[in-house]
Amino acid sequence: MRFLSDYLKETYGEKIYKIALTSGCTCPNRDGTAGTGGCAFCSEGGSGDFAAPLLPLEEQIERAEALIRPKTGARRFIAYYQSFTNTYGDVKRLASLYEETARRDDVAILSLGTRPDCLGPEVMDMLRGLRKIKPLWVELGLQTVHDGTAEAFHRGYPFAVFREGYARLKEAGITVVVHMIFGLPGETKEMMLESVRTLASLDPPPDGVKLQMLHILRGTELGALYEKEPWPMLSLEEYAGLIAESLRILPEETVIHRMTGDGPGKLLLAPEWTRNKKRVLNAIRRKAGLV
Ligand code: SF4
Repeated sequence: MRFLSDYLKETYGEKIYKIALTSGCTCPNRDGTAGTGGCAFCSEGGSGDFAAPLLPLEEQIERAEALIRPKTGARRFIAYYQSFTNTYGDVKRLASLYEETARRDDVAILSLGTRPDCLGPEVMDMLRGLRKIKPLWVELGLQTVHDGTAEAFHRGYPFAVFREGYARLKEAGITVVVHMIFGLPGETKEMMLESVRTLASLDPPPDGVKLQMLHILRGTELGALYEKEPWPMLSLEEYAGLIAESLRILPEETVIHRMTGDGPGKLLLAPEWTRNKKRVLNAIRRKAGLV
């Protein structure tokens, strides 16, 4: 298995840090195109950890880098358009914004978070063009391969749509990072591992994965249900066991980008143990035999 920090050091010869940028896109799962309420776990920030305000690009980058540079001395960054659906909107405007981002010397990698149902021909042309400027990652929030679970949290597309979008990206030679969530309501541990096995069996397998525990956030549909009637969630030990098993299942070439999330702490209702990231990572390392 290979972790992101090792991959970045091996590939770029230096530590590269991520900065979160905002493209001004919305999400088809919120504006009525695929749905109106969004995914049941998604907060107003559109599933981003640290959504930056929509400011001119130069200003967004300066602000983000100013937070990281003094502590790390970092020279180059992953420009990560994380929140909402960053291939959903006026493609000309987006192409110009992303091209400007990719052409910067301080940007080593351009990363776009999106949905597999937002990869039409014009978007694919834009992505092919961007890929020629800088390494391009497209991050797809799949969360589960099980359509019943996805319907229940209103993902707004079936797994077959993910397969098509994924194939299109891979044919275009684009690096694809897939996001998965463990602990979705109604899913057994076997179902979670089946999702991981299905990802591992894709041909070619994903270039990267982000694994995280479901965060139940105040102000979301799941949050309202949980506040009314809490249900038992995976314990830290159970979660760590599932991640350790996933690391065994995923192929060597799939880079592990994340094993636990950074949800907005102020909104977090459950599980409490996700707040202590260090403890979570230590538990995973123990279960995976990495310590
Ligand atoms: S697709 Fe992403 S941004 Fe849209 S509602 Fe779902 S999690 Fe939120």
